[in-house]
Amino acid sequence: MNFATIRNTRRILAGMNYTGLDRIYQQLDSELGMILTLHHVNPHPVPKFAPNAHLTVHPEFLRSVIQLLQQRDIDIIDLDEACERIANPTLDRRRFAVITFDDGYQDTLHHAMPVLKEFDLPYTVYLASGLIEGTADLWWEGIEALVSQQSRIALQMVGSKSGPKELNCSTRAEKMESFNFLVKYLTNDVSELDQSRVVRELCWLYKIDLEALNKSQIMSWEQVHKLMNDSKCTIGAHTLNHRALARLTPDQVVDEVTQGAMVMASELGHKPEHFAYPYGYRAAANRRDFDLMKDLGFKTAVTTRGGMIFPGHKNHMTALPRISVNGMYQKMRYFAPLTSGLPTRLGNGLKRVSVK
Ligand SMILES: [Zn+2]
Repeated sequence: MNFATIRNTRRILAGMNYTGLDRIYQQLDSELGMILTLHHVNPHPVPKFAPNAHLTVHPEFLRSVIQLLQQRDIDIIDLDEACERIANPTLDRRRFAVITFDDGYQDTLHHAMPVLKEFDLPYTVYLASGLIEGTADLWWEGIEALVSQQSRIALQMVGSKSGPKELNCSTRAEKMESFNFLVKYLTNDVSELDQSRVVRELCWLYKIDLEALNKSQIMSWEQVHKLMNDSKCTIGAHTLNHRALARLTPDQVVDEVTQGAMVMASELGHKPEHFAYPYGYRAAANRRDFDLMKDLGFKTAVTTRGGMIFPGHKNHMTALPRISVNGMYQKMRYFAPLTSGLPTRLGNGLKRVSVK
Protein backbone atom coordinates (compact mmCIF):
# COMPACT_ATOMS: atom_id res chain seq x y z
CA MET A 1 0.00 0.00 0.00
CA ASN A 2 1.45 3.38 -1.05
CA PHE A 3 -0.05 6.28 0.89
CA ALA A 4 1.37 8.97 -1.48
CA THR A 5 -0.39 7.31 -4.46
CA ILE A 6 -3.63 7.03 -2.48
CA ARG A 7 -3.46 10.73 -1.50
CA ASN A 8 -2.86 11.79 -5.12
CA THR A 9 -5.65 9.57 -6.45
CA ARG A 10 -8.04 11.01 -3.84
CA ARG A 11 -7.14 14.56 -4.96
CA ILE A 12 -7.73 13.73 -8.64
CA LEU A 13 -11.07 12.00 -7.95
CA ALA A 14 -12.29 14.78 -5.66
CA GLY A 15 -11.24 17.35 -8.30
CA MET A 16 -13.28 15.57 -11.01
CA ASN A 17 -16.25 15.43 -8.65
CA TYR A 18 -15.97 19.09 -7.62
CA THR A 19 -15.63 20.44 -11.19
CA GLY A 20 -18.34 18.15 -12.62
CA LEU A 21 -15.92 16.93 -15.29
CA ASP A 22 -16.91 13.32 -14.63
CA ARG A 23 -20.62 14.04 -15.23
CA ILE A 24 -19.87 15.88 -18.48
CA TYR A 25 -17.66 13.01 -19.68
CA GLN A 26 -20.33 10.46 -18.85
CA GLN A 27 -22.83 12.12 -21.22
CA LEU A 28 -20.36 11.72 -24.09
CA ASP A 29 -19.02 8.17 -23.84
CA SER A 30 -20.64 4.93 -24.98
CA GLU A 31 -20.15 2.72 -21.93
CA LEU A 32 -22.82 0.13 -21.17
CA GLY A 33 -22.15 -0.21 -17.48
CA MET A 34 -19.79 -1.45 -14.81
CA ILE A 35 -19.04 -4.46 -12.63
CA LEU A 36 -18.19 -3.54 -9.04
CA THR A 37 -15.62 -5.49 -6.98
CA LEU A 38 -16.01 -5.85 -3.23
CA HIS A 39 -14.25 -8.07 -0.71
CA HIS A 40 -15.02 -7.52 2.99
CA VAL A 41 -18.08 -5.56 4.12
CA ASN A 42 -18.17 -5.03 7.88
CA PRO A 43 -18.57 -2.28 10.48
CA HIS A 44 -15.50 -3.23 12.58
CA PRO A 45 -13.10 -0.39 13.40
CA VAL A 46 -9.92 -0.38 11.28
CA PRO A 47 -6.84 -1.21 13.41
CA LYS A 48 -3.79 1.09 13.43
CA PHE A 49 -1.77 -1.23 11.22
CA ALA A 50 -4.10 -2.44 8.46
CA PRO A 51 -2.30 -2.94 5.15
CA ASN A 52 -5.29 -4.89 3.80
CA ALA A 53 -7.71 -2.06 4.66
CA HIS A 54 -8.36 -1.43 0.95
CA LEU A 55 -10.27 -4.75 0.94
CA THR A 56 -12.89 -3.66 3.49
CA VAL A 57 -15.77 -1.19 3.28
CA HIS A 58 -18.37 -0.29 5.89
CA PRO A 59 -21.96 -1.51 5.26
CA GLU A 60 -23.06 2.14 5.32
CA PHE A 61 -20.70 2.86 2.45
CA LEU A 62 -22.19 -0.03 0.46
CA ARG A 63 -25.62 1.49 1.14
CA SER A 64 -24.39 4.91 -0.12
CA VAL A 65 -22.93 3.31 -3.25
CA ILE A 66 -26.28 1.68 -4.05
CA GLN A 67 -28.14 4.95 -3.43
CA LEU A 68 -25.75 6.83 -5.72
CA LEU A 69 -26.20 4.27 -8.51
CA GLN A 70 -29.97 4.56 -8.18
CA GLN A 71 -29.85 8.37 -8.14
CA ARG A 72 -27.82 8.22 -11.35
CA ASP A 73 -30.44 5.96 -13.02
CA ILE A 74 -28.06 3.01 -13.20
CA ASP A 75 -29.82 -0.39 -13.25
CA ILE A 76 -28.36 -2.89 -10.78
CA ILE A 77 -28.65 -6.25 -12.55
CA ASP A 78 -27.17 -9.77 -12.38
CA LEU A 79 -24.37 -11.16 -14.55
CA ASP A 80 -26.68 -13.06 -16.89
CA GLU A 81 -28.63 -9.90 -17.72
CA ALA A 82 -25.33 -8.05 -18.13
CA CYS A 83 -24.31 -10.73 -20.68
CA GLU A 84 -27.53 -10.13 -22.57
CA ARG A 85 -27.03 -6.34 -22.54
CA ILE A 86 -23.41 -6.66 -23.72
CA ALA A 87 -24.49 -9.04 -26.52
CA ASN A 88 -27.24 -6.65 -27.67
CA PRO A 89 -26.08 -3.13 -26.89
CA THR A 90 -28.58 -0.36 -27.52
CA LEU A 91 -27.68 3.24 -27.04
CA ASP A 92 -31.00 4.30 -25.55
CA ARG A 93 -30.72 1.83 -22.66
CA ARG A 94 -29.86 2.94 -19.12
CA ARG A 95 -26.41 2.00 -17.87
CA PHE A 96 -26.00 -1.03 -15.61
CA ALA A 97 -24.01 -2.07 -12.56
CA VAL A 98 -23.31 -5.62 -11.34
CA ILE A 99 -22.32 -6.06 -7.68
CA THR A 100 -19.70 -8.78 -7.06
CA PHE A 101 -17.91 -10.08 -3.97
CA ASP A 102 -14.66 -12.04 -4.13
CA ASP A 103 -13.47 -14.93 -1.91
CA GLY A 104 -16.67 -15.77 0.03
CA TYR A 105 -16.10 -13.97 3.32
CA GLN A 106 -18.57 -14.58 6.13
CA ASP A 107 -19.18 -10.85 6.31
CA THR A 108 -20.71 -11.01 2.80
CA LEU A 109 -23.45 -13.06 4.44
CA HIS A 110 -23.66 -11.12 7.71
CA HIS A 111 -23.18 -7.50 6.60
CA ALA A 112 -23.52 -7.16 2.81
CA MET A 113 -26.53 -9.43 2.27
CA PRO A 114 -28.81 -7.47 4.67
CA VAL A 115 -28.07 -4.23 2.76
CA LEU A 116 -28.70 -5.91 -0.60
CA LYS A 117 -31.94 -7.43 0.74
CA GLU A 118 -33.09 -3.99 1.86
CA PHE A 119 -32.93 -2.86 -1.79
CA ASP A 120 -33.91 -6.29 -3.21
CA LEU A 121 -30.84 -6.39 -5.44
CA PRO A 122 -28.98 -9.20 -7.24
CA TYR A 123 -25.31 -9.90 -6.55
CA THR A 124 -22.54 -12.40 -7.29
CA VAL A 125 -20.14 -14.14 -4.90
CA TYR A 126 -16.98 -15.80 -6.27
CA LEU A 127 -15.72 -18.79 -4.27
CA ALA A 128 -12.33 -20.54 -4.16
CA SER A 129 -13.21 -24.06 -2.98
CA GLY A 130 -9.77 -24.55 -1.37
CA LEU A 131 -10.29 -21.54 0.91
CA ILE A 132 -13.46 -23.20 2.17
CA GLU A 133 -11.84 -26.63 2.55
CA GLY A 134 -8.54 -25.44 4.04
CA THR A 135 -6.16 -26.35 1.19
CA ALA A 136 -5.59 -22.63 0.55
CA ASP A 137 -5.03 -19.77 2.98
CA LEU A 138 -5.84 -16.10 3.31
CA TRP A 139 -2.07 -15.64 3.26
CA TRP A 140 -2.23 -11.83 2.94
CA GLU A 141 -4.20 -11.70 6.19
CA GLY A 142 -1.78 -14.15 7.83
CA ILE A 143 1.12 -11.89 6.85
CA GLU A 144 -0.75 -8.86 8.21
CA ALA A 145 -1.25 -10.62 11.57
CA LEU A 146 2.38 -11.74 11.62
CA VAL A 147 3.87 -8.30 10.89
CA SER A 148 1.39 -6.65 13.24
CA GLN A 149 2.36 -8.88 16.19
CA GLN A 150 6.13 -9.14 15.74
CA SER A 151 8.88 -6.55 16.05
CA ARG A 152 11.34 -8.61 13.99
CA ILE A 153 10.84 -11.49 11.54
CA ALA A 154 13.48 -13.91 10.22
CA LEU A 155 12.63 -14.97 6.67
CA GLN A 156 14.51 -17.90 5.20
CA MET A 157 14.51 -17.06 1.49
CA VAL A 158 13.67 -19.95 -0.85
CA GLY A 159 16.83 -21.39 -2.44
CA SER A 160 19.18 -19.23 -0.36
CA LYS A 161 22.06 -20.96 1.42
CA SER A 162 22.88 -17.95 3.57
CA GLY A 163 21.07 -17.24 6.84
CA PRO A 164 17.58 -15.80 7.11
CA LYS A 165 16.79 -12.22 6.08
CA GLU A 166 15.84 -10.05 9.06
CA LEU A 167 12.75 -7.88 8.64
CA ASN A 168 12.29 -5.05 11.12
CA CYS A 169 8.73 -4.52 12.29
CA SER A 170 9.10 -2.23 15.32
CA THR A 171 7.47 0.95 14.06
CA ARG A 172 4.38 1.36 11.89
CA ALA A 173 6.57 2.50 8.97
CA GLU A 174 8.84 -0.55 9.37
CA LYS A 175 5.81 -2.82 9.58
CA MET A 176 4.43 -1.39 6.35
CA GLU A 177 7.81 -1.72 4.62
CA SER A 178 8.16 -5.35 5.77
CA PHE A 179 4.58 -6.18 4.78
CA ASN A 180 5.15 -4.68 1.30
CA PHE A 181 8.44 -6.59 1.00
CA LEU A 182 6.76 -9.88 1.92
CA VAL A 183 3.87 -9.36 -0.50
CA LYS A 184 6.27 -8.56 -3.34
CA TYR A 185 8.48 -11.53 -2.43
CA LEU A 186 5.53 -13.93 -2.23
CA THR A 187 3.80 -12.76 -5.42
CA ASN A 188 6.87 -12.18 -7.62
CA ASP A 189 9.95 -13.97 -6.41
CA VAL A 190 8.69 -17.41 -5.40
CA SER A 191 6.32 -19.82 -7.16
CA GLU A 192 2.66 -20.08 -6.15
CA LEU A 193 3.40 -23.41 -4.41
CA ASP A 194 6.36 -21.97 -2.51
CA GLN A 195 4.25 -18.95 -1.57
CA SER A 196 1.86 -21.21 0.29
CA ARG A 197 4.69 -23.18 1.95
CA VAL A 198 6.64 -20.07 3.03
CA VAL A 199 3.56 -18.45 4.58
CA ARG A 200 2.58 -21.63 6.43
CA GLU A 201 6.14 -22.01 7.79
CA LEU A 202 6.34 -18.37 8.89
CA CYS A 203 2.95 -18.53 10.59
CA TRP A 204 3.85 -21.81 12.33
CA LEU A 205 7.17 -20.36 13.51
CA TYR A 206 5.56 -17.21 14.94
CA LYS A 207 2.43 -18.93 16.28
CA ILE A 208 -0.11 -17.37 13.94
CA ASP A 209 -2.99 -19.84 13.63
CA LEU A 210 -3.58 -19.54 9.90
CA GLU A 211 -6.21 -22.27 9.89
CA ALA A 212 -8.24 -20.53 12.60
CA LEU A 213 -7.88 -17.24 10.75
CA ASN A 214 -9.23 -18.82 7.53
CA LYS A 215 -12.11 -20.44 9.39
CA SER A 216 -13.05 -17.22 11.16
CA GLN A 217 -13.26 -15.32 7.86
CA ILE A 218 -14.32 -17.66 5.05
CA MET A 219 -17.81 -19.14 4.72
CA SER A 220 -18.34 -22.84 5.39
CA TRP A 221 -20.24 -24.91 2.80
CA GLU A 222 -23.20 -24.71 5.15
CA GLN A 223 -23.10 -20.92 4.94
CA VAL A 224 -22.63 -21.12 1.15
CA HIS A 225 -25.87 -23.11 1.01
CA LYS A 226 -27.62 -20.16 2.67
CA LEU A 227 -26.36 -17.98 -0.19
CA MET A 228 -27.53 -20.57 -2.69
CA ASN A 229 -31.01 -20.37 -1.28
CA ASP A 230 -31.11 -16.67 -2.08
CA SER A 231 -32.58 -16.37 -5.58
CA LYS A 232 -30.80 -13.01 -5.99
CA CYS A 233 -27.35 -14.56 -5.58
CA THR A 234 -25.19 -15.89 -8.41
CA ILE A 235 -22.31 -18.07 -7.25
CA GLY A 236 -19.20 -17.90 -9.39
CA ALA A 237 -15.84 -19.68 -9.37
CA HIS A 238 -12.51 -18.29 -8.20
CA THR A 239 -10.17 -21.35 -8.76
CA LEU A 240 -9.43 -24.17 -6.32
CA ASN A 241 -6.53 -22.67 -4.36
CA HIS A 242 -6.75 -18.96 -5.16
CA ARG A 243 -3.71 -19.04 -7.44
CA ALA A 244 -2.44 -16.28 -9.74
CA LEU A 245 -3.11 -18.11 -13.00
CA ALA A 246 -0.53 -16.21 -15.04
CA ARG A 247 2.19 -17.72 -12.83
CA LEU A 248 1.10 -21.30 -13.64
CA THR A 249 1.62 -23.52 -16.69
CA PRO A 250 -1.43 -23.96 -18.97
CA ASP A 251 -1.99 -27.49 -17.57
CA GLN A 252 -1.86 -26.16 -14.00
CA VAL A 253 -4.35 -23.41 -14.91
CA VAL A 254 -6.80 -25.96 -16.34
CA ASP A 255 -6.39 -28.17 -13.23
CA GLU A 256 -6.86 -25.26 -10.79
CA VAL A 257 -9.96 -24.02 -12.55
CA THR A 258 -11.64 -27.34 -13.39
CA GLN A 259 -10.98 -28.86 -9.95
CA GLY A 260 -12.31 -25.72 -8.24
CA ALA A 261 -15.42 -25.85 -10.45
CA MET A 262 -15.88 -29.61 -9.85
CA VAL A 263 -15.82 -29.22 -6.07
CA MET A 264 -18.36 -26.40 -6.38
CA ALA A 265 -20.54 -28.50 -8.70
CA SER A 266 -20.56 -31.39 -6.21
CA GLU A 267 -21.55 -29.03 -3.37
CA LEU A 268 -23.97 -26.81 -5.27
CA GLY A 269 -25.41 -29.22 -7.80
CA HIS A 270 -24.40 -27.21 -10.84
CA LYS A 271 -21.21 -26.04 -12.53
CA PRO A 272 -20.45 -22.33 -12.09
CA GLU A 273 -20.83 -20.31 -15.30
CA HIS A 274 -19.04 -17.18 -14.16
CA PHE A 275 -15.45 -16.80 -13.02
CA ALA A 276 -13.19 -14.24 -11.29
CA TYR A 277 -9.41 -14.37 -11.67
CA PRO A 278 -7.73 -14.46 -8.22
CA TYR A 279 -5.96 -11.10 -7.67
CA GLY A 280 -7.05 -10.24 -11.21
CA TYR A 281 -4.34 -7.70 -11.98
CA ARG A 282 -2.14 -7.81 -15.10
CA ALA A 283 0.60 -10.05 -13.64
CA ALA A 284 -1.99 -12.51 -12.27
CA ALA A 285 -4.25 -12.98 -15.31
CA ASN A 286 -3.26 -12.44 -18.93
CA ARG A 287 -4.37 -13.02 -22.52
CA ARG A 288 -3.52 -16.74 -22.35
CA ASP A 289 -5.78 -17.13 -19.29
CA PHE A 290 -8.60 -15.16 -20.95
CA ASP A 291 -8.47 -17.64 -23.88
CA LEU A 292 -8.32 -20.66 -21.53
CA MET A 293 -11.40 -19.50 -19.58
CA LYS A 294 -13.25 -19.11 -22.89
CA ASP A 295 -12.20 -22.66 -23.91
CA LEU A 296 -13.37 -23.96 -20.51
CA GLY A 297 -16.82 -22.59 -21.29
CA PHE A 298 -17.28 -19.75 -18.78
CA LYS A 299 -19.87 -17.17 -19.86
CA THR A 300 -17.92 -14.38 -18.19
CA ALA A 301 -14.62 -13.96 -16.37
CA VAL A 302 -13.74 -10.79 -14.51
CA THR A 303 -10.36 -9.26 -13.70
CA THR A 304 -9.56 -6.48 -11.24
CA ARG A 305 -8.23 -4.25 -14.01
CA GLY A 306 -10.06 -0.94 -13.68
CA GLY A 307 -12.52 -0.16 -16.44
CA MET A 308 -16.12 0.18 -17.60
CA ILE A 309 -17.96 -2.26 -19.88
CA PHE A 310 -18.18 -1.11 -23.51
CA PRO A 311 -19.89 -2.72 -26.56
CA GLY A 312 -16.42 -3.96 -27.64
CA HIS A 313 -16.35 -6.32 -24.65
CA LYS A 314 -18.85 -8.52 -26.56
CA ASN A 315 -15.79 -10.26 -28.06
CA HIS A 316 -13.87 -10.39 -24.77
CA MET A 317 -16.34 -11.77 -22.24
CA THR A 318 -13.58 -13.57 -20.32
CA ALA A 319 -11.53 -10.38 -19.91
CA LEU A 320 -14.02 -8.06 -18.26
CA PRO A 321 -12.66 -5.15 -16.18
CA ARG A 322 -14.24 -4.04 -12.91
CA ILE A 323 -14.52 -0.95 -10.72
CA SER A 324 -13.15 -1.44 -7.21
CA VAL A 325 -15.26 -0.39 -4.24
CA ASN A 326 -12.10 0.25 -2.27
CA GLY A 327 -11.73 0.77 1.48
CA MET A 328 -9.22 3.58 0.94
CA TYR A 329 -11.77 5.66 -0.99
CA GLN A 330 -14.89 5.47 1.19
CA LYS A 331 -16.21 8.94 0.42
CA MET A 332 -18.73 9.69 -2.31
CA ARG A 333 -16.47 12.41 -3.72
CA TYR A 334 -13.95 9.66 -4.52
CA PHE A 335 -16.33 6.91 -5.58
CA ALA A 336 -18.88 8.93 -7.63
CA PRO A 337 -16.40 9.91 -10.41
CA LEU A 338 -15.53 6.21 -10.85
CA THR A 339 -19.10 5.51 -11.99
CA SER A 340 -18.63 7.98 -14.87
CA GLY A 341 -15.80 5.96 -16.44
CA LEU A 342 -13.51 9.00 -16.75
CA PRO A 343 -10.83 7.95 -14.21
CA THR A 344 -10.42 4.44 -15.61
CA ARG A 345 -10.51 5.67 -19.23
CA LEU A 346 -7.64 8.03 -18.44
CA GLY A 347 -5.87 5.25 -16.52
CA ASN A 348 -6.15 2.93 -19.55
CA GLY A 349 -4.48 5.40 -21.93
CA LEU A 350 -7.95 6.27 -23.34
CA LYS A 351 -8.52 2.66 -24.53
CA ARG A 352 -12.02 1.29 -24.02
CA VAL A 353 -11.11 -2.40 -24.23
CA SER A 354 -7.74 -3.66 -23.07
CA VAL A 355 -7.03 -7.41 -23.17
CA LYS A 356 -3.25 -7.63 -23.47
ZN1 LIG B 1 -9.72 -13.45 -4.38
